[in-house]
Amino acid sequence: MSKFIDEVIINVKAGHGGGGAVSFYREKYREFGGPDGGEGGHGGNVCIISKISIETLDKYIPLKVYSAEVGTPGSGKNKAGSKGNDLILKVPIGTQVYDAETDDLLYDFLTDEDLFVVAKGGIGGKGNAFFKTSTNQTPRFSQPGEPGEEKQIKLSLKLLADVGLVGLPNAGKSTLLSKITDAHPKIASYAFTTLIPNLGVVIRDHKRKYTIADIPGIIEGASRGIGLGLSFLRHIERVKVVVYLIDANSMDIVENYQCLISELNSYHESLSQKPSLIVLNKIDMIEDESFIHELISSFGLQNKKIIPISAEKEINLENLLVELDKLLIFYH
Ligand code: GDP
Ligand code: MG
Repeated sequence: MSKFIDEVIINVKAGHGGGGAVSFYREKYREFGGPDGGEGGHGGNVCIISKISIETLDKYIPLKVYSAEVGTPGSGKNKAGSKGNDLILKVPIGTQVYDAETDDLLYDFLTDEDLFVVAKGGIGGKGNAFFKTSTNQTPRFSQPGEPGEEKQIKLSLKLLADVGLVGLPNAGKSTLLSKITDAHPKIASYAFTTLIPNLGVVIRDHKRKYTIADIPGIIEGASRGIGLGLSFLRHIERVKVVVYLIDANSMDIVENYQCLISELNSYHESLSQKPSLIVLNKIDMIEDESFIHELISSFGLQNKKIIPISAEKEINLENLLVELDKLLIFYH
């Protein structure tokens, strides 16, 4: 099983600029022409790009130097050197880039296909043609290329769940996650187990993916720093959609819901203001369907969308995913 790496320190080295050339124009019947040394090419940059298709940082080898290409030197006939190719490092969304020495945050990848130049390539040196002046017609010097930037950086993956699953213990969060996501071995081996006990990836239409985090213990005083505590909540601050999962058989469903809201609120108001769905679980245990309609209309008064499901018996799960798609579509 491949080991999940959530943090890695690597070195990045942009390309050195190519040197400018010292060269003189030569012709058959002219012994000495003017200077025609071209400039060197710029060194390649080291860039980092976020990709939704990448899930871990485990392909990065600790302390390895990742280098971009150098620029080639200029040459005679005013020929410029060519630019070194950029090196592009791919990382998962949610990766933060730190300067390893100062621990300053350099960049935070929040969206797909975001590009950050982490080390700039050195500029190429001017060739001697550039230095020709009225007083110096035959400069015999050129500029060397500048060195590329070099840095030691820390890549740190802070998972971004798209959907946070919030509910009282036993509401069926883990069951739901296991039914709608497809990442069971990963869940088990995830290094964030202590932070996010369960994180699953939903695959839709063979490609569209989003992540759902089961947020256990939120109701057990998490906002007051009890249990998993604040580090955990800080993490879910970034979810895009909140799913309130409520056991349809509980005594007072509306109260249950308000309890979840106030728990989120007591941490940060922005959390309870995120787009959300109310999902009533375990409807397989309810015999009287009119009861469900009653519930839906009581929430309906508050203008909330309610989806009755059974996680365990897999009832109406497709409908839930369709509703999630609708809420998440704005983010894709
Ligand atoms: P969590 O604490 O919110 O993660 O809840 P779990 O997923 O661990 O589920 C708690 C209990 O409820 C387990 O015994 C599940 O088997 C049961 N459960 C979960 N979903 C359903 C459902 O849709 N119907 C029924 N009848 N039981 C369910
Ligand atoms: Mg659970």
